[in-house]
Amino acid sequence: MIRDEVKAFKPYRVIEGNYRIWLDKNESPYDLPEELKEEIFEELKRTPFNRYPHITSMPVREEIGDFYGLPAENVAVGKGGDELINYLVRLFEGDYIVTTPPTFGMYSFYARLNGIPVVEVPLGEDFTIDGDLIAEKAKKASAVFIASPNNPTGNLQPLEEVLKVLETGRAVVVDEAYVEFAGKDLLGLLDEYPNLVLLRTFSKAFGLAGARIGYALASEEIIDALYRIKSPFSVDIFAQAVVKVVLRHPGLFRERVREIVKERERVRRSLGELAYPSDANFLLVKADAHSFLLERGIVVRKLSGRLKGHIRVTIGRREENDAFIAAMEEWKDVAGI
Ligand code: PMP
Repeated sequence: MIRDEVKAFKPYRVIEGNYRIWLDKNESPYDLPEELKEEIFEELKRTPFNRYPHITSMPVREEIGDFYGLPAENVAVGKGGDELINYLVRLFEGDYIVTTPPTFGMYSFYARLNGIPVVEVPLGEDFTIDGDLIAEKAKKASAVFIASPNNPTGNLQPLEEVLKVLETGRAVVVDEAYVEFAGKDLLGLLDEYPNLVLLRTFSKAFGLAGARIGYALASEEIIDALYRIKSPFSVDIFAQAVVKVVLRHPGLFRERVREIVKERERVRRSLGELAYPSDANFLLVKADAHSFLLERGIVVRKLSGRLKGHIRVTIGRREENDAFIAAMEEWKDVAGI
């Protein structure tokens, strides 16, 4: 009964257990303060639950647009950035999408789900993209997906390499899910490049992974096309209320980002040569320490393929990071490093 193509997908790996510290999903360690939750509940009390939300999410697109100084026509919202990726792989003319492994798995996941071939242009030694190589492959591509900062390596991509890809005129999706931790973004390029799509999310810097809302910033033509194929109403009244309220308090999130960046650098220094530089809220670490940490109640992401023997650790609260640092000191002793 079930199609073979569907059976070929692996079930999601669910990690359950009484672990103390979860540093495996690049979430924010900070929940919303009680007062903001109250503000959201007040907002929801004024919202009718029996009515569908706006069919193209206009109110929340306007709020996000205002926040970045863009018209709502340049903003699309989705149930997490993930939902938007599922549309972006299908939106543009071309024979395949281009990805740059090791990178976020959902670009190829949704391409595969939609029967779209994937051409891979691997990252270089230092995990940067090769703009010339990608530009060559982009000629017949529908879209190129570049994560900057990249997950799981943590680095921003060099502007001059991204520009080489943009100059091809093919659609380029730059996934900026972690950009608030980097201090540099490509927002300023949107005017100049109508083929650029910036993919963002409220899941990381805004600490709203549970609310499931992400957004894309792009030309009116691209956003209009996206809304022709997007499932209506996917961003619900709860997610919309959450965004409305958090955007009233940008200072709080800026402060939290500063704290996470400070902690990231502290954790990185403690790991010395083992950790790669990062522009995100996580670190790539050259240490086969996944099971060792799990035995001590700390969950991190185990990597495979080219990054076999590496882990990805999310920056948590100070005390969580302290526990991770202490466990890694122990691991280094045991491993003789
Ligand atoms: N892009 C990247 C690079 C990510 O790491 C993630 C989340 N892990 C996303 C997009 C999507 O996040 P969400 O669906 O929570 O918005």
